[in-house]
Formats: sequence, structure tokens, C-alpha cells
Amino acid sequence: MTVPVPVPVDLAALSRAATAVDRVKVDLPLDYVAETLWGTSFVAVRDRLHGPCPVHEADGDDHDPSLHVWREDTGTWRWRCSPCAEGGDVLSLLRWASSLSFPDAVAEAARLLDSMPADWVGTRVEARAAADPGELEASLAGYRDQLAESAFAEAHWDAWLAGRGLDALGASAARLYEDWGVGGSDWALCVPHRSPGGALTGLKLRSGDQKWAATGSRFTYLYGSWRDEGRPEVVLVEGESDAWTAALLWPERDVLALPHGVAKPKEAWLAPLRGRTVYVALDSDEASDPVADLWMAALATEAERAVRLRPAAGKDLGDHVAAGGKAAEVRRTLLPLAVRAVHQQVRDSGVTSA
Ligand SMILES: [Zn+2]
Repeated sequence: MTVPVPVPVDLAALSRAATAVDRVKVDLPLDYVAETLWGTSFVAVRDRLHGPCPVHEADGDDHDPSLHVWREDTGTWRWRCSPCAEGGDVLSLLRWASSLSFPDAVAEAARLLDSMPADWVGTRVEARAAADPGELEASLAGYRDQLAESAFAEAHWDAWLAGRGLDALGASAARLYEDWGVGGSDWALCVPHRSPGGALTGLKLRSGDQKWAATGSRFTYLYGSWRDEGRPEVVLVEGESDAWTAALLWPERDVLALPHGVAKPKEAWLAPLRGRTVYVALDSDEASDPVADLWMAALATEAERAVRLRPAAGKDLGDHVAAGGKAAEVRRTLLPLAVRAVHQQVRDSGVTSA
């Protein structure tokens, strides 16, 4: 017979732990956490701070930042990222963004609180003013001249495109220059964003495998708006390089891209899609799938027809193409398979397709 052994409860320890949990929620500023762990800088918007979300905006796009942090009247710091549909206190932030267990999040928060300088004041960057279009044009012209004149820059960016498997589709720096107005130097690819009327609204710079940096734009329009011919079928993708990929895959359709990572539909973005057949080829992952659902719901009423395209391999079209590894292999096998898979989806959905 087993005699149950009473487990001794250390009430004092429990009380200390509860106190520590309460303390970090109040005493540990969330902008300090984000700045320390992810290098986040914040813009003050009324009584809240806005910074790039460490999860879905981790690619360095810091415009219209969607991680909002604030302190409630009770003193507790709280956060929310609407695109990710997540929010809570410091512990939920650490558990979510750093994938920590609850005890590890408590320990990490305590460590951060201990490491915070007593005189710490958060970074408060000014909201960015819209850039001067003349300055942007001059900057882009510089990059375009360099790309046209530097054999090294062209070879460098050709190699970068090849690394993503895009050379198999016929992409090259020279082609992006012609088709998308892209410029480039020895160290950066410079990607212009333009309004439907062709006005330059912003530039994105990418250096090698580093992240995108944006300048100037509030990204009011979908990327590719100025090339949109209003054809009956349009492909909606996420980001510039997927736009290039999609345009090479489906030259008979227009291509528009969400200009800064996954984001919910808004009026200015829905307007050009109205009454057309829209192929929604947003990324397939945890961050993008719920947003793609929102797009499908919005397009159900706005578009002639909406068809969700899911890349079979990897999370986006670029992965799909790059997953083939060697360019020759992509050319031989993966690309025809990708196209067949997409056409099959299109047939399954009842759309007659070229
Ligand atoms: Zn997010």
C-alpha cells in the first residue's frame, strides 16, 4: 500500500514568484524589451508607441509599423500586433516572439529588468515625413546609372537572382532594370515604388542577403501599380521579388504585390482589383494565412472571382522556384510542375485559364 506523501508547499517562494511576475509586467517597459532584443525603434503616436513587429515585419520594413505598445492606467505594459492578431503583456510577448516557455519568459523578463539602466529612456524617432520626390528620383537615377555602367554590379545582382532560382525564369539585373525600373550599385539593389500615375513614392534598398530597407514611402499603392494594364486577370503576391517571379511565370496577367510584407486589405489596395479575377498568391505560413483569408473574404464581394494559389514547396513563390536548387534543374523540372500545379488549381476552381 502506498502512502501519499504530502508535497511541501513553499508559500513564501510562491508568493515571491507571483510578485516577480507582477513586477515585470509593470516595471519592465515593452519598448526596452523590444529595443534590447530586436533593435526595435518606436514612433510615438498619441499615447502609444509603434514599432516593427518582431515576427511578421522581421524583414526590416519599418514603415507603418504594427507592433503597438502602451502602458495602461493600472501600470501594466501591453502590446498588440493586429496583422498577427496577437497581444498581451510582457510575458506573452516573450513567449510569442522569442518562443519561450512561461518560466523561461519570467526568467528572461527578470534578467531584462535587472539589466535595464536606471536612467534608460526609450528611443523616440520622429514619424517619417513623406520624402521629396525630386530627391528620390535623383537617388534612383544614381542607382540606375551605376547598374547600367558597372559590370560588377550587374554580375553581382545576376548572381543574387540566380541564388533564388530566378535566372531559370529569365530574370537578370538588366531585365529588372527594363521591366521594373530597378537600379543597383555594387552593394545595393534599388527598387522603386511608383503610384498608378508613375510618380515615384519610395525606394527600397537591399544589400546582398541583408534585409530590405525602405525610404520615403508610405506605401499607399500596391507594388507594380504603375505597370498594371488592367487586364482581366491579376496575380496578387507578397513583396517585390515575388512580383518579379510572378510576372515571369504569368506574363499574360498583371501582377501586383503587397508593398511591405503581409498586410490586411485596405481600400486603396482593393480598388485596382475590383471586377477582375484575382489569384491570391500570398505566402503560405502562419503569419500570412489568416491575412490571405481576409483578402479572400474582401475579394469575394469586390472581385469578379478570387482564387487562392498556394506554392506547393516553400512558403512563397520565390522559395518554390529556389527549392529546385540548381537553375538547370529548375528549368527542367520544377517550373513546369509549378505551372501545372497552378493550372490544375485554376481548373479545379472552375476558372478557364490560358
Ligand atoms: Zn506582427
